[in-house]
Amino acid sequence: MAELRFTFGTMGSGKSTQALQIHHNLRARGLHTILTTQLDRAEGRVSSRLGVSADAEIVEPHTDLFEMVRRRMARQGSVDAVISDEVQFYTPIQCEQLARVVDELAVDIYAFGLLTSFQGELFPGTARMLELADQRIEIQVEARCWCGARATHNGRFVDGRQVVSGQLKVVGDTGGPTSGEVTYDLLCRAHWLDGARKASGSQLELLDVDEARSESDDVDHSGPVEVNPDAVPTPLKAT
Ligand SMILES: [Zn+2]
Repeated sequence: MAELRFTFGTMGSGKSTQALQIHHNLRARGLHTILTTQLDRAEGRVSSRLGVSADAEIVEPHTDLFEMVRRRMARQGSVDAVISDEVQFYTPIQCEQLARVVDELAVDIYAFGLLTSFQGELFPGTARMLELADQRIEIQVEARCWCGARATHNGRFVDGRQVVSGQLKVVGDTGGPTSGEVTYDLLCRAHWLDGARKASGSQLELLDVDEARSESDDVDHSGPVEVNPDAVPTPLKAT
């Protein structure tokens, strides 16, 4: 039976390294695999901080993953597994397409993604994967907050100050008046919450995004999220 496996963790927990390892191991056994990733990765490659990389199919907001796999099967005879990195940025509909690949095409899916955003909430793609997956596997790494406690939260910093509002994906240097140096760091929950509380009073530089959000507050968010490809910024590189 094919399965949908979703492996999640914090930034720097080695998700891309695991994705590349599985991709390599299956290919070494002569199996046909497809490696997919999101816009996050420049030039269609998945790379890990340990220096390994491989060619990957880039998943755009409009990409139909079910059709991608079906076409590949028609062309080369078989696909044994799909390894998908950065699935937190896939749309909920694309996550459902991966589930259909498992159920209707009997292809194994190994999906990898971040659990929560810098805002401390599930990414839309991550939420859908948790809902759909046959197996949910958390990567446990011994990452530490600066205080020494186990790091469980991704913090985003602009010019060294923690922020909790802004786009899920952000351009590192937009050159605009709201730009600053954007960095990420791992924190324990207590220090992530502490920084988030302080940040909520000093988010003026990112208010344009908050206003856009409050305008759509009465929109029904219960269904799949539509993504406007033109509105998706080029994200930072992250593992
Ligand atoms: Zn801490």
